[in-house]
Amino acid sequence: MPVRATKRGDERTPLEGRHDVLVCGASFAGLAVARELSGSGASVLVVDRYEIGERQTSACGIPTQWMRELSLMEAECQRFDSLLIHSPHGERRYRLPWTFSTFDYRRLCELLWADCDAGFETAKVNGRAPGTPGDGLIHVDTDRGVLSSPLVVDALGWRRNLASGDGYQPPDAPLSRGLEVHPAGAGEDLEIWIDRRYVPAGYGWSFPAGDEVRIGIGSFDPRFHIRDTTVLLSEDLGKEPNEYQGNWIPHKLRGATEGGVFFAGDSAGHCLPLSAEGIRTALYFGIALGRQLRAVVEGRQTRDQAAAAYAGFNDSHEWKFRWMLRVQKLIPRIPPRILAPLLRLMGTSRFVRWSFDHYLQIAPPGFARRSVGDSDDSDDPRRDSERPLRIEPGLVRAK
Ligand SMILES: Cc1cc2nc3c(=O)[nH]c(=O)nc-3n(C[C@H](O)[C@H](O)[C@H](O)COP(=O)(O)OP(=O)(O)OC[C@H]3O[C@@H](n4cnc5c(N)ncnc54)[C@H](O)[C@@H]3O)c2cc1C
Repeated sequence: MPVRATKRGDERTPLEGRHDVLVCGASFAGLAVARELSGSGASVLVVDRYEIGERQTSACGIPTQWMRELSLMEAECQRFDSLLIHSPHGERRYRLPWTFSTFDYRRLCELLWADCDAGFETAKVNGRAPGTPGDGLIHVDTDRGVLSSPLVVDALGWRRNLASGDGYQPPDAPLSRGLEVHPAGAGEDLEIWIDRRYVPAGYGWSFPAGDEVRIGIGSFDPRFHIRDTTVLLSEDLGKEPNEYQGNWIPHKLRGATEGGVFFAGDSAGHCLPLSAEGIRTALYFGIALGRQLRAVVEGRQTRDQAAAAYAGFNDSHEWKFRWMLRVQKLIPRIPPRILAPLLRLMGTSRFVRWSFDHYLQIAPPGFARRSVGDSDDSDDPRRDSERPLRIEPGLVRAK
């Protein structure tokens, strides 16, 4: 188990002060925000209870193109051009129209961080601290003191620590659960199991990553206990389960702003329902938010305008998340005898290309393309869906 790196004893110096931007959470979403602010001249502080890259939060699988666009290929472990789906009635290989990669979490975070010019401190965020009305600042209580900023980002994951507290608690909240193990070994295939022996509503996976295999179970039903079947799948694959790592996974989009705080990644429910793919979307929404905040620190818009634009961007994706959630709810209702012919039908190359291309477009890799520090995209020749988020008052929906 990783040890929390929050400074202890003599090293635990008080941490207080004011910054132009305070980013809470130094994983995918938080680092994406900080990276977009690089070169803006703003004083940006990133805080996390662990050191950057210290604690892996997922199986670390992502469309390769996203890694390429962000110059993160050095962190790639393995690449796959097909997906092998197992059901109780057989298996089916889907040739993917784009490749998927597993990566080394620590290395990827280090690479993202190398592009940032923010400060970093280990601190546990406890929540909001009371402030002086009208000073325009948001105060954040940490285990090392109170930090203040007019622009605060909560990229702390599903707990959404800096929100007012909306009673979002498992197992009643719309959260899936995921657990995985990382036994040593090698594998050729990216594999998924849709099999009620492992999980009644959800799937099992095996993601090879160089010299280890990430084997896990994701359950859409938060009440289903996945530890036993994670062990079962691992043993069925001839691997000794070890290094357990799990978390709740949001499967519903939430408000992108609340009480002056901006939310990105799992804290905003940005993980996609059905696939539980939340890395690419944490990066995508983190980049969108970083661009909005950059426009504020550069004096091109106010905090309220940034909040309205970011909330509008978030909400414009709601119908896609809603559709994926519908399919997530439908799949457990499909009788097992229909599942095999259905998977066969869906395995036609035309359907695979159509569905996977649409799926990729929910958070297209081209969105990341603009280089760090580049603030003008007016001559950008890309397709609209791939262009960075722009601030056009006519398109901004006030919250
Ligand atoms: C078992 C499992 C496997 C998964 N596999 C994949 C996958 O292969 N591909 C994929 O796309 N998605 C996967 N996901 C989903 C993915 O992990 C999340 O959607 C993604 O990590 C969200 O990124 P984030 O930056 O919003 O939050 P996180 O990655 O959860 O980061 C939150 C950060 O905040 C810090 N933090 C939390 N609380 C505090 C606090 N109080 N004070 C200070 N710091 C704090 C944490 O240390 C962490 O660094 C998986 C999830 C699980 C559970």
